[in-house]
Amino acid sequence: MRIFAQSTWMDFFSSDKVLGILGGGQLGKMLLYTTRQWDVTTYVMDPNPQAPARLACNRFVTGDLMDFDQVYQFGKNVDVLTIEIENVNVEALKKLAQEGVKVYPQPEVLEIIQNKCRQKNFYKKHGLPTAPFYEFSSVEQLKEAVAKGQVSFPFVWKSAAMGYDGYGVAIVRSNEDLDTLKEGACMAEEYVPFDKELAVIVCRNPHGQITTYPVVEMEFHPTANQVEYVLCPARISVEDAQAARKVAMKASEAFGHVGLLAVELFLTKEGEIIINEVAPRPHNSGHYTLEASYTSQFEQHLRALLDLPLGQTDSKVSAVMVNLVGKAGHQGAVYYKNIDQIMTLEGVNPHIYGKRETRPFRKMGHVTIVHPKLETARTLAAQVKETVEVISK
Ligand code: ADP
Repeated sequence: MRIFAQSTWMDFFSSDKVLGILGGGQLGKMLLYTTRQWDVTTYVMDPNPQAPARLACNRFVTGDLMDFDQVYQFGKNVDVLTIEIENVNVEALKKLAQEGVKVYPQPEVLEIIQNKCRQKNFYKKHGLPTAPFYEFSSVEQLKEAVAKGQVSFPFVWKSAAMGYDGYGVAIVRSNEDLDTLKEGACMAEEYVPFDKELAVIVCRNPHGQITTYPVVEMEFHPTANQVEYVLCPARISVEDAQAARKVAMKASEAFGHVGLLAVELFLTKEGEIIINEVAPRPHNSGHYTLEASYTSQFEQHLRALLDLPLGQTDSKVSAVMVNLVGKAGHQGAVYYKNIDQIMTLEGVNPHIYGKRETRPFRKMGHVTIVHPKLETARTLAAQVKETVEVISK
């Protein structure tokens, strides 16, 4: 084992040093479980004064994450700065990094990832496997390419900027579908008739130590384009799992990021592993680690940010995570109907993020079910999904 004798960051424990987090949603909130456990001082900034992370941080600032001055002023008062959402002002992060603030993930990494076209070009440049794509500066240009037969149906339209939870993504099968696309720079990606969607969470510390978590499998809601279940381990062969971890490691090495990198992958029907996209932060596909792993993704992220040795990523038990999302047709003050009923089930761990208002398909919480047998956990997860309803009062 390598010992980091020279580490300078140990003094975050019970000290005046500050970790800043841009974004105060559920990812920030769960990161704060570990900062509280370790008595690490944290400041959080989020535009919403009611953001889930407001209660567990040491200082909460209301601010616009895309505004240069507000991000810069916030960052000036912290020693290490991280994000829990990609859409933040990168120019401010660059200036802070120049002035000596440790910004992780590095602004240059974030800049690539913020723009889907730039991200895809990065994979191409580094020989990382990904689906072929064409870039366009407008939907008009895309339509012309379709008319000329350069792009054919079906394909996947992806908006270059500001996509989130499938909102900037659409499968285009006809000319009518083309008319529904949002204006702006975009790409047309080859439609991948994949067998499974997988994810591997990688973590890298400033010394270049890299760990990968076991491969997880994501099951999607058939219409909302959102993850419904995450299963760990993925129900794939040992060879496919090894290949997935290898591709994820290679992506991590290419980015040279510090902190977590969640690598979303497709396992194609031909048995190939290709990258869909990455996120340089804690990820929905790693929530299960809170109950099932030796080291949670949040603790691992914090270890990397504070320049500490990384923890063990193995699972202690199988797990299935179910997202609790707002029911269609419900908007307003939230009510978790029947949540008491699932508490009698074996291995059930509910997480409620603390968002007061529900909206259709808004991520409001999740439930992790742990069990020695993955299939039993999956059955229980379906029961949880059918029982709990996230509705308005
Ligand atoms: P977001 O950034 O909004 O999460 P993604 O790029 O992950 O968007 O796409 C959302 C979902 O759309 C994916 O999880 C997958 O189910 C589907 N998808 C994305 N790209 C493709 C593709 N090339 N072929 C088939 N399905 C795709």
